[in-house]
Amino acid sequence: MKITVQPLQEQELKPLFQDASQLGFGRIFTDRMFTMRYQDKAWVEPTIEKYRNFSLDPSACVFHYAQEIFEGMKAYASEDGRILLFRPEQNVKRMNRSAERLVMPTIPEQDMLQAIAELVVAEKRWIPRAPGTSLYIRPTMIATEPFLGVHPSAEYLFYIILSPVGAYYKEGFKPVRLYVEDTFVRAAVGGVGDIKTGGNYAASLMAGYLAQQKGFSQVLWLDARERKYVEEVGAMNMFFVFGDKLVTPALTGSILPGITRASVLELAQYLGLATEERPVSIDEVIEGIANGEITEAFGSGTAAVISPVGSLFFKDKEYVINNNQVGPVTQKLYDKLVNIQYGKETDPFGWVKEIGRL
Ligand SMILES: *Cc1c(COP(=O)(O)O)cnc(C)c1O
Repeated sequence: MKITVQPLQEQELKPLFQDASQLGFGRIFTDRMFTMRYQDKAWVEPTIEKYRNFSLDPSACVFHYAQEIFEGMKAYASEDGRILLFRPEQNVKRMNRSAERLVMPTIPEQDMLQAIAELVVAEKRWIPRAPGTSLYIRPTMIATEPFLGVHPSAEYLFYIILSPVGAYYKEGFKPVRLYVEDTFVRAAVGGVGDIKTGGNYAASLMAGYLAQQKGFSQVLWLDARERKYVEEVGAMNMFFVFGDKLVTPALTGSILPGITRASVLELAQYLGLATEERPVSIDEVIEGIANGEITEAFGSGTAAVISPVGSLFFKDKEYVINNNQVGPVTQKLYDKLVNIQYGKETDPFGWVKEIGRL
């Protein structure tokens, strides 16, 4: 694919962030973005251009029926100046699976990877270097056809924006409190819970808002049918150190198949820890915490990598895990994964892809 790169004058560039340790998440965007339009059944005009507002017809499909998908991944700066992506081909494949589910056009994997890599390299001055920081990458596709009928749009916009993000654990690697949600549900089997589409997040806002008002950081979702099985947390998959095994809910169709989740499973096996993907009921979890069989719990996702869970609040009672401390398995998996992502440790899996140098 030949990407047109529009020139940007020096004086048009934004001032760079001053202190990488003060970066939050997703509020600062770089100078350029990638865009590509779909019309007459073809992707046209792949372009790296100045970050700008879009002009869309108010009737554009995306505004009414939420035909939208996205991905989330990161570019990392290694200490020796390499620009690294973590399993980017997995994000590209998942984006295309999301597209197929919402009757949107797919993008050739090589083209999407090229667009991501070329944009990140063009914007490399924005990749922060401080420990734990990275350049967040947000590929997005929206339905742009101006038409109020409920049908798949005939026109789309695919774009990629970049945001330098701070260390997730500014105040240390601390366990979070989760609220086990037994009223609202995130997604049902047969729906779209297993793809990254904005509608899933819209549906989750109320429960998250109420849980935060009660002092919890996030919601632990149960299955839609029985409110019995553990699904996932916010934008993270869930893991339990259960006896001598690492256990995670099996992918049922309503759980997002996280790339971090898949990596944690592979890494755990590599480190000699038995893993199990199976239905995990909330009763079993509560009992396991109470009788000491569950010694650790954590979430996994691109943003946090691994987020230790200190307690679960279920039906008016708080269940504390490992004295609200980070356990050894959680710590080890976190350290290993982060070291691989930042190119500090050899990567026995071939997960890390160098796309250029700083
Ligand atoms: C993105 C996401 C995850 C985590 O996926 P990763 O590929 O590990 O970042 C988990 N759950 C939901 C709902 C998500 O959107």
